[in-house]
Order: sequence, then structure tokens, then C-alpha cells
Amino acid sequence: MKTLPFWQDDYPRPDTLPVSVLPQRVDVAIIGGGYTGLSAAYALARSGVETAVLEQDRIGAGASSRHAGIVTTGFRQSLANLFDWHGEAVGRQLWQASLEAVDLVGEIVADEGISCDFTRRGHLTLAAKPSHFASMKQLVAWLADEMDFTVQLLSPDEVETAVGSKAYFGGMLNEWSASLHPTKYLYGLAGAVARQGGLLCEKTAVTRLEKFANGFNIQTSQGTVKAREVLLATNGNDGKLVRPVQRLIFPMSSVAIVTESLTAAQQRYLNPNGWSAQDSRWLPHYFRLTPDGRFLFGSHRYWGLDPDLLDVAATLRQQLIQRFPLLAEVPLAYAWGGNLGQTFDMVPHIGRVNGVHFALGYSGQGVALSAYLGREAGLLLSGQKRTSPFVTIQPAMRFYYRKYGRIAPLLGHYYRFLDWIS
Ligand SMILES: Cc1cc2nc3c(=O)[nH]c(=O)nc-3n(C[C@H](O)[C@H](O)[C@H](O)COP(=O)(O)OP(=O)(O)OC[C@H]3O[C@@H](n4cnc5c(N)ncnc54)[C@H](O)[C@@H]3O)c2cc1C
Repeated sequence: MKTLPFWQDDYPRPDTLPVSVLPQRVDVAIIGGGYTGLSAAYALARSGVETAVLEQDRIGAGASSRHAGIVTTGFRQSLANLFDWHGEAVGRQLWQASLEAVDLVGEIVADEGISCDFTRRGHLTLAAKPSHFASMKQLVAWLADEMDFTVQLLSPDEVETAVGSKAYFGGMLNEWSASLHPTKYLYGLAGAVARQGGLLCEKTAVTRLEKFANGFNIQTSQGTVKAREVLLATNGNDGKLVRPVQRLIFPMSSVAIVTESLTAAQQRYLNPNGWSAQDSRWLPHYFRLTPDGRFLFGSHRYWGLDPDLLDVAATLRQQLIQRFPLLAEVPLAYAWGGNLGQTFDMVPHIGRVNGVHFALGYSGQGVALSAYLGREAGLLLSGQKRTSPFVTIQPAMRFYYRKYGRIAPLLGHYYRFLDWIS
């Protein structure tokens, strides 16, 4: 079994992707070369703003090349809570943005001719408990009545036929959602940024930001660059550059495994419709077939500090076989982990602290939203937009949070408790 992301092995970084040298000066410097940073750079470079993406590793080495490729609507937080906390008008704007986010990925893929297996087949949410199915029925009715949005309710029998498993108590199918191949999309997007004149500075770790009257001095592992504006698009990776941002985000691990290729009959039994899926827990399992017919299964569960990948993969495999006994004889081919940028309110935010802009915090559901927030940040920075719903909502800050090591176990237990009582 290989301990690297299947996607990186299946479609590695193309040699044709240009490597840029760190410039001395740039209009906007973007820290972080994942989907958020690249989407912001794409919007900025298209409107003629000089932009450099500063990435400490290779482009997309963080979550953007490690995820499951599920491009779905909504947020990790429930819509009901978002309506409660921010009011109906903002709640509706957030929901609408999440729909547009899926469309936006499709538009970028079409406009730039990115061949990344983007298909809008739909996404299933599966009830992990009978009580979750009862809540789903209410949600489906509410979405139809209040939001004019159709989601199809599936009975336990229909779910069994759809995913080849007796483990679930029903489900709901959202046909707005899509799936894609993460690294094909990643390098396609990076190529589009480069074609628009954006610079991709890899192996360029930002170590310090100094503010002065007209901008910033940015110290990096490759030297210093001056920029008028800075956008932090570092996901849950690094809060030390802008300390107040550290109080709203922390990294949580997610681990995925991928089997060897399945036979056509196994694929038909396990997923005849090509739907991606996720269960209804706060710390969910997610799964899908890869474009070449393997089974990908993963979990945003809390795996402990610095978990042993082989141990976690063995646990995940047991959980996989409990749910899909057909896979008991199919060997694993890949296992890997990555970090989610988790916020305390489980919604992403755009903001500005100490003069530094930030866009981050998808909490494990960021493939569609990173395109949207990246573009919003780019349009705000270039003055083409004045506000965004993701600026309006105030992030939940925790003054006591300073160190991932202390907070993650507590929150892991808290979400497990919520799953247990639900
Ligand atoms: C295993 C896994 C499965 C997932 N599955 C899904 C899914 O199916 N669907 C979904 O919607 N979401 C999923 N997600 C979440 C999704 O991948 C992320 O929300 C999304 O990729 C975030 O993109 P980003 O650009 O904000 O962050 P990232 O891709 O993490 O990019 C941030 C970048 O910042 C760089 N960086 C950090 N500090 C510095 C510094 N000081 N200097 C320079 N560079 C720096 C990092 O190296 C990194 O490349 C999953 C995540 C994981 C880990």
C-alpha cells in the first residue's frame, strides 16, 4: 500500500506548469497555493492586477490535492444554525453562494478547458441513525417550501440499492452537486493563473510580514518581496503569521483510503449511479468511486495528535468492511491524511486583520467554496466588489485557543458527544 494521495500518484504535477522566481514587488501577494489562493489569483490576474502566489511547498500540496473530490452545496454547519445566528436574509445569501460555488467550479473548468472528470451526478447524505432520517425528512420539506430547492428523499431500501450497504437508515440526494479529480482540477487552475500572468512561486515559505505605510515587506525562504496587499489563504496550516487569525481556525486531520480497482460488477453493485456520499454525523465518513473505478473511503473523524497513518488506515478499513462487506477481499492501494481548516462555527470567512486579508475555514467542505471565496477575495481586493456574505458574518473567536495540541482533542470529543446524543 502506498502512503501518498492516490490523486498525486495518478496525475502528478505536470512539468509544463511554469515555475516563477520571487519578484521584488507585486500588487497582491497571496500566501498559500491551494484552491483558495489560486482562485483569488485567477480573479486578480484576469482583471490585470499583478499577483504572486507564495506557496511553501509545491502548488496544492495541502488539502487541495488530498481531498475526495466531492463538490457539494451547503456548509459543514447546518442551515438552521446559520439562519438562527445570522438571520434569514444572510442565511439565504450564504445558501445561494454555496449553490453558485458549484456552478463556478463548472464554469472555470469549462472556460479554461480543464479536463478533470467534473461530473454533476449528485451527492447523497446518508442517515447514520434513525433520528437523522427523521431530521432529513423535515429538512427536505423545508428546502422545498422555503428555499425552492429540490432534494430527493431515499428510503432505507433505495439507499441499499444505491450504495450496496445495509448500514444506513435512509438518505437524501442533492443533484446540484458534482465530483472531480482533485489534482487534474488543481493543475488546470494553476495553469490558468499562469496564462493570465499570475506568478506561481513554489518552495517559498512566508516567515514574517512587516506592515509599512503603503503595504507590506514579506519575508520568505526565497528572499523578501514588497506587496501593496496580502491575502492569507493558508487553510488551517499556519496561524503564526497573523496571530489574531489563529484564534478562529485550527487544523483537524482527515484520512482517506483507496482500494485497488474494482471489477465492473463490483462498481455497479456499490454505486450504479456514480453518486458521491457522506454520512450525517458531525464527524462523517465520506466515499465515492474514483474515475478509474476504485473505492475511496475516508473520514473527518478526530484521529488524535500526530496519528499513525497505518493504524488509522487499518481502523478505516475495518469500518469500510462493516459497511461494505463486498470489499472484504479487495486490497487497499493507498492511504493518506491531510489537514482541514476548521473554524469554531464551521463556516468559512473572509476578513481583514492588521491590514492582512484572509479567506479560509471550510471545515472539511471546501472544494466548491474555495473557488467562491477565492474569487470573492480577489474581487474585493481589486475593488470590483464592495462586500460579500462571508465578510458580513463575524467569525467565532476563542480567546483561549492558542495551540492546536490543546484544543483539538477537546473538540474531537465534543463532536463525538454531539454524534452520540443525536
Ligand atoms: C482528506 C481530505 C478530504 C477532503 N475531502 C473533501 C471533499 O471531498 N469535498 C470538499 O468540499 N472538501 C474536502 N476537503 C477539504 C478541502 O480539501 C479544503 O477545504 C480545500 O482544499 C481548502 O483549500 P485551501 O486552498 O483553502 O487550502 P490548502 O489546499 O490546504 O492550501 C493552503 C496552502 O497554504 C500553504 N501554506 C501554509 N502556510 C504557508 C506559509 N507560511 N507560506 C507559504 N505557504 C503556506 C500550504 O502549504 C497549502 O498548500 C477534504 C480535505 C481533506 C484533508
